[in-house]
Amino acid sequence: MKTTPEFYTVKQLCEGFIWSNEDHKGLNGLGGKLIIQPEYQRNFLYANDNSKLEIAVIESIRNGYPLGVLYFNKIKDDMMEVLDGQQRITSLGRFLSDKFSIMLDGRPYKFSKLPKEMREQIENTQIMAYICTEGTEYEVMKWFTIINMGGIKINKQEERNASYYGSFVTLAKQEFSNKKNSNMAMWQSYIKGSADRQEILECALDWVSHGKIDDYMLEHRNDTNIDELKDHFDDVITWVKGTFEDVNPDMCGLKWGEMYDTYHTNHYDLFELNSKVRELRTDDRINAHRNIYEYVLGGCENDSLLNIRVFDKSQKVILYNRQTIEANEKGVSNCPDCVLEGKVNKTKIWDFKDMEADHIKAWSKGGPTSLDNGQMLCKHHNRAKGNK
Ligand SMILES: [Zn+2]
Repeated sequence: MKTTPEFYTVKQLCEGFIWSNEDHKGLNGLGGKLIIQPEYQRNFLYANDNSKLEIAVIESIRNGYPLGVLYFNKIKDDMMEVLDGQQRITSLGRFLSDKFSIMLDGRPYKFSKLPKEMREQIENTQIMAYICTEGTEYEVMKWFTIINMGGIKINKQEERNASYYGSFVTLAKQEFSNKKNSNMAMWQSYIKGSADRQEILECALDWVSHGKIDDYMLEHRNDTNIDELKDHFDDVITWVKGTFEDVNPDMCGLKWGEMYDTYHTNHYDLFELNSKVRELRTDDRINAHRNIYEYVLGGCENDSLLNIRVFDKSQKVILYNRQTIEANEKGVSNCPDCVLEGKVNKTKIWDFKDMEADHIKAWSKGGPTSLDNGQMLCKHHNRAKGNK
């Protein structure tokens, strides 16, 4: 993709400008050679108070303040479309065609009623535009996304929206990337991320596509509805809300889509299930409180999900046997700390009953209660370690 700087006067930009009352948008500029609002720009309409914004644009020109660079995309030899600058060009076009007034010495003036030299000053103001040529559709959309992000690095989903832009993305963003959607706050109790950064949409797509977001967006690119996406998303959310009575902060960002797939056809005694959740949430032997939901959905069977503080008997026996066999082969104590200490007990083989299980990486620091992170120590050393 190539970009070339060009200068245009306000008069040139506004030549042939038409304001469509019906669509509420400016149609053409540069004598019909500039499309001011391409289809994909719809989502980027300023929702703010337009009248103040457009007056500010004219005041900037009158005072000689810079208006910022415009970005155009060349689509044919004699045709360009606006990538960035739609609002500014529309404001200029509307003012030059007497669609609104500015205040001068306490009185409103339309453009045609301004003194001649003031009109000329406005018309002859030059604005720089970058013209983008030889770009693929994807490059142009990616660039457009970056411009509208104000230089913030675009994330994976924003890039996908650019790659697969079309009717489906437009509709999906209206639903899931719209901060004004009345469901947004409720969704964000369960989903981490922001609507602006497309993270709610990404989650909805992840759920419906079972992780294959790109395939899904490619397949549905030209769809004119988002029914499947929306229905599946609503199903998951409704299921979570209907299953778990309390809304806790640790529910935010869990893999609800996967849990829905695995468990939504199961029948639960909801009273029992919710009582169990409340009980486990206050249990301080549990490290992984976020996994409580999955644990109860799975019938409270997979203890490893919870990272419980204590090793069970079978884990201790495995650890004991492993260490004792190795210690006998080497002729050292089966308590590794006794070996390290190198004193009287350095070759002592302790009985099972005289040893205790220890987390190599402390449980309080997130070390799991697993065989990989476990060892048996003599009682003396285990307690010495515990007291540190
Ligand atoms: Zn020891």
